[in-house]
Amino acid sequence: MHDFVIIGGGIVGMSTAMQLIQVYPDARILLLEKESGPAQHQTGHNSGVIHAGVYYTPGSLKARFCLEGNRATKAFCQEQGIRFDECGKLLVATNDLEMARMKALWERTAANGLERHWVSAAELREREPNIVGEGGIFVPSSAIVNYAEVTAAMGRAFIAAGGEIRFNSEVVCLEERASEVVIRTRQDEIQSRYLITCSGLMADRVVRMLGLTPDFVICPFRGEYYLLPQQHNQIVNHLIYPIPDPAMPFLGVHLTRMIDGSVTVGPNAVLALKREGYRKRDVSGRDLWETLTCPGVLKVLAKNLRPGLIEMKNSLFKGGYLKQVQKYCPSLTTEDLKPYPAGVRAQAVSRQGKLIDDFLFVKTPRSINVCNAPSPAATSAIPIGGHIVDQVRTLLGDRDADSGRSKSPVNQRVHG
Ligand SMILES: Cc1cc2nc3c(=O)[nH]c(=O)nc-3n(C[C@H](O)[C@H](O)[C@H](O)COP(=O)(O)OP(=O)(O)OC[C@H]3O[C@@H](n4cnc5c(N)ncnc54)[C@H](O)[C@@H]3O)c2cc1C
Repeated sequence: MHDFVIIGGGIVGMSTAMQLIQVYPDARILLLEKESGPAQHQTGHNSGVIHAGVYYTPGSLKARFCLEGNRATKAFCQEQGIRFDECGKLLVATNDLEMARMKALWERTAANGLERHWVSAAELREREPNIVGEGGIFVPSSAIVNYAEVTAAMGRAFIAAGGEIRFNSEVVCLEERASEVVIRTRQDEIQSRYLITCSGLMADRVVRMLGLTPDFVICPFRGEYYLLPQQHNQIVNHLIYPIPDPAMPFLGVHLTRMIDGSVTVGPNAVLALKREGYRKRDVSGRDLWETLTCPGVLKVLAKNLRPGLIEMKNSLFKGGYLKQVQKYCPSLTTEDLKPYPAGVRAQAVSRQGKLIDDFLFVKTPRSINVCNAPSPAATSAIPIGGHIVDQVRTLLGDRDADSGRSKSPVNQRVHG
């Protein structure tokens, strides 16, 4: 019998595993991942930005965890010898409407407790000779890292503390009983006192396996990138972001310096035809059916029909995509846009037709399930893991264990 089983070897699952074993060092903890290694989905297909927390609603979990996660991720990287670069981020307004939206963001960054600097058009030219705009906000704490490396280091820390990871172990069935959870993988059956699921693009399916009827569905959105040729590696000194339309859930196509020295353009946001499909031609009948038969998703698509169609057009034709970047980086041409792997975001959509904005957790007597962890969940993975460990303590009636290591839940069966 295991004490805890965690499903998902992305950054959220690994961070949770690493922190859970620190609090319960004697517990038998197993992490199951269906792929052959860690970070093969969202965690390994993203922009690699350690976000500062600019956009998120003050008081939300996203705002809190992003701010904490920015510091915690850098501290973890320092401790583990993982390279990161605190290059800072510039949000650039290119017209009067964006200047007005930028002022609202300026207030929000204050409410979220961020250090930031107002940048005039002249200062913008000085900082970024290849970028044009009427002004900007500079956020110095934004940084870049390779999240796959961070996740692998978390996995090593978990194993070193006595945890176990099984790759190639897809969970296909779950049964929650009064005293245990039975977990069936393609190979075997495992009993555990408690279950934590961090299954990203499969979050709704995994909670359905537990017999729950979730009030949301995971809607997959592709994020497509281009890579700039090597001669453009110095084209920007910071991360360059447009001012987002507050009605849209994603940040807009940005210029991202990557930790390997290259620069990417993207990501856009188009409905994906397959949850874990990274090529444009990847289609899954099951995924598409589930997406398009969900009334909530249909409402979201209907509400965003025009921008959605523009995104699709820009995904198919480089010229449209390029125009979004040329607004603030006019020297780029279509020849500069080289192929680069896409990512797929797991965005929960409520049955009522709302994109669920904040991180979402669903609990049962013996399980904690991460149901919505889109960006900035890579940045926030350490506080998210900490939050889950707190929830576990509550589940176990173990609120006294605040100051570090706790009893093993093996000794707490009386609570279970
Ligand atoms: C294009 C893009 C750009 C992004 N940019 C950023 C960024 O710059 N900064 C940032 O902070 N965030 C960013 N994000 C968001 C961030 O990548 C994700 O929020 C984060 O990686 C989520 O981690 P996760 O562990 O929840 O999910 P995942 O990394 O998707 O991991 C879930 C894991 O669960 C496994 N799994 C699922 N079902 C099962 C099962 N039945 N059995 C066993 N295993 C299972 C999967 O194989 C997978 O490995 C971006 C995301 C995308 C897609």
